[in-house]
Amino acid sequence: MPHWKHIAILGAGESGVGAALLAHKYRMQVYLSDAGAVKDKFARELNEAGIDYQSGSHDETRIMNADVVVKSPGIPNHVPLIQKIEEAGIPLVSEIEFASRFTEAKIVAITGSNGKTTTTALTGHLLKQGGINVQVGGNIGKSFARLLAQEPPADVYVLEISSFQCDHLIEFKPYIAIITNFSPDHLDRYNYRMEDYVAAKFSLLKNMDENDIFIFNAEDEWTQIMRKNNRWPCRQMGFGAKKTEETIAWIDEHQYININIEKPMNIKDLSLKGQHNAQNSMASSMAARLLHVRKESIRESLTNFDAIEHRLESLGSIRGVTFINDSKATNVNATWYALESVSKPVIWIAGGVDKGNDYTELMNLVESKVKAVVCLGEDNQKLLDEFTGHVKVITETRSMEKAVKMAFSLADKGDTILLSPACASFDLFDNYEHRGEQFKYWVRQL
Ligand code: ADP
Repeated sequence: MPHWKHIAILGAGESGVGAALLAHKYRMQVYLSDAGAVKDKFARELNEAGIDYQSGSHDETRIMNADVVVKSPGIPNHVPLIQKIEEAGIPLVSEIEFASRFTEAKIVAITGSNGKTTTTALTGHLLKQGGINVQVGGNIGKSFARLLAQEPPADVYVLEISSFQCDHLIEFKPYIAIITNFSPDHLDRYNYRMEDYVAAKFSLLKNMDENDIFIFNAEDEWTQIMRKNNRWPCRQMGFGAKKTEETIAWIDEHQYININIEKPMNIKDLSLKGQHNAQNSMASSMAARLLHVRKESIRESLTNFDAIEHRLESLGSIRGVTFINDSKATNVNATWYALESVSKPVIWIAGGVDKGNDYTELMNLVESKVKAVVCLGEDNQKLLDEFTGHVKVITETRSMEKAVKMAFSLADKGDTILLSPACASFDLFDNYEHRGEQFKYWVRQL
């Protein structure tokens, strides 16, 4: 248990409020502040618990007098207050680090550019079905600190960790770390240097010892660069599309995955579809085996896991046209896997806020599978320039209602309408959930 008495917490989102509730539970003096307005639901919780907080500004003296400062992942490292705290030598920790000081339970930490949520939820499912007392959270659902503050203690915590949550980890030591893959994302926070973004995620491994296990994607280029250039004491186990001396789990030429659960499994029998989900399934199964879940239980759980909302979520079909909501695909790599996994012909709804996308890697798939593109963004010029001439039809709109209606009018029986934007959603929507909800709403109206 940490010895800190006075805790200052910066940022009143899910992680900051979680940290406040946890510290309060252990009778520490908490002061939480947020430079913006604290959301009503969080303010209510803080009031009910009697936690001292400030909305819209900071009391710097109180922060500088704390024994430890917990920084929310949304706050960039270069803001003057953060620099001042560091210069003063006050311990500055992330919420994940802070929370980890309150438990001895095993931690499965999952990060990467794509597939974190899916792999986290699936791992949680495999463990739960396997009879393990597990809690799932972090960057999805409840923050780690909130789980510890409010839920019954678990034997294993499965945590999705975003790259920002990998900053300010000091003693955090997962038993299993899974890094799914790397593709450019959030580079604005990393001086536009991919190396820095990758290194941030790898800081998960820094305290792991020879009893701990790193589950890695053997086909991921950045992972292999990092493995070549670093020596960590932890054990390392790979998964990939091919059998090599590094892979414990792989996909064979008949599209069966081999995951050390006796017979290989046909990837068609997995409830999560697509090659990317076969990778996620391999990583999750490896973690479950390491935590001694029975082989038969893993097999069964891989076939009865419900897809997660907004990730290749099948909405069924209308007049023979299938609808798929992949609103969470906010980068090109995620969309690549979506296009790869759906059956053609596809009417592809794409667009939004482009984070410097390079669409060339999609071109082959688009040319072979997509019959029409509906661009849905405030500014569609880049998509129009890239794909005009490569597909039969390309149109644009700024409204989800029109996008769905256009796509449906272009579709024939047997086609798939796929929303997989490859872009962030902030131009026309609050977030990717809002975009996905709108898509589902207008599909229902058909
Ligand atoms: P994250 O939490 O890392 O954003 P999600 O599981 O929410 O990942 O999935 C985000 C998007 O990426 C979805 O469109 C999903 O279909 C796609 N995806 C999921 N797993 C992978 C993977 N292993 N590789 C590439 N894309 C993936």
